[in-house]
Amino acid sequence: MTELSVVIPCYNEDEVIGRFHRAVLKELEDLGISFEICYVDDGSRDATRLHLREFARLDNRVRYLSFSRNFGKEAAILAGLRTCSGDAAILMDADLQHPPSLIPKMLELHRQGYDQVVAQRDRAGDGLLRTLVSKVYYRLMRRCIDVQLVDGQGDFRLLSRKAVQAVISLPESNRFSKGIFSWIGFDTVSFSYKNAERAAGRSKWGGRRLLNYGIDGLLSFNSRPLRLVIHLGTLLFLTALGYTGWIFVSTLMTGVRTPGYVTLIAVITGLSGVQLTTLGVIGEYVGRIYGESKHRPHYVVHEASDLQAPAVVPPP
Ligand code: UDP
Ligand code: MG
Repeated sequence: MTELSVVIPCYNEDEVIGRFHRAVLKELEDLGISFEICYVDDGSRDATRLHLREFARLDNRVRYLSFSRNFGKEAAILAGLRTCSGDAAILMDADLQHPPSLIPKMLELHRQGYDQVVAQRDRAGDGLLRTLVSKVYYRLMRRCIDVQLVDGQGDFRLLSRKAVQAVISLPESNRFSKGIFSWIGFDTVSFSYKNAERAAGRSKWGGRRLLNYGIDGLLSFNSRPLRLVIHLGTLLFLTALGYTGWIFVSTLMTGVRTPGYVTLIAVITGLSGVQLTTLGVIGEYVGRIYGESKHRPHYVVHEASDLQAPAVVPPP
């Protein structure tokens, strides 16, 4: 029985993967427990897959899985958790931003009885803009969705077997891990560490990708935005009702007046804006329902170190 699995999603990481592998291996060997390293190559277009193939050939504690194209980090995390067999699994990035030196501490906390051990990063090394946007985003999210998200608590965490089972039992195709980890619950402990700069290569999260990720997070956990839209609609309706009443009374008292062109245009444009936004929000949910109803697998595996990997074609 493997005591610890380390699961690593990688996408175009050939510049760092070697360094990362040595660092993790050293850390795990020093622990003196049985372990496995599960890499998930998320359709890299560089030499990442060749490196993984080599690691697995040289060391039977290393397994890997390679997707047929880039399916995104969420899919890679799911695949890794499905394949791993350890009593506990640690999820980490390949770029050395998640220091392997924290592994012993995470394991130690897990042994004290926690099912989720979260390493929470500070925002050192992040751009000012990204820090600011994240702060605002998390504040907004706390108001909008039911699960608790904490700034800096990301995917770098240890999950017990029970927690892993819970995560992989959620079938949704629109996955938002941060929310899922919080949704499954369990005894969770977190400690903070100083964020490190990426060792080499480039971040795959440009502004646009982050924005989409943010919207996903907002919409994948509940229908509260729809509720907000209903409130807004009601408020506008009441305002319009009041305004109409006021015009009626004032016409009765002062006679017919033609001015009002500006008000008219303002009302038309304002309301059209609200209607379009509302339709957009509804459309997002409908799109999601459509996406989920197709029951497509989350990813397609192209190559794997061991063919008995349970994740080759997952059932719907
Ligand atoms: N990653 C992935 N698929 C993607 C994008 C990223 O598997 O489509 C991996 C990437 O290789 C890395 C981790 O997810 O191991 C975090 O990515 P990155 O460092 O680019 O994100 P950041 O640290 O900037 O948030
Ligand atoms: Mg990174």
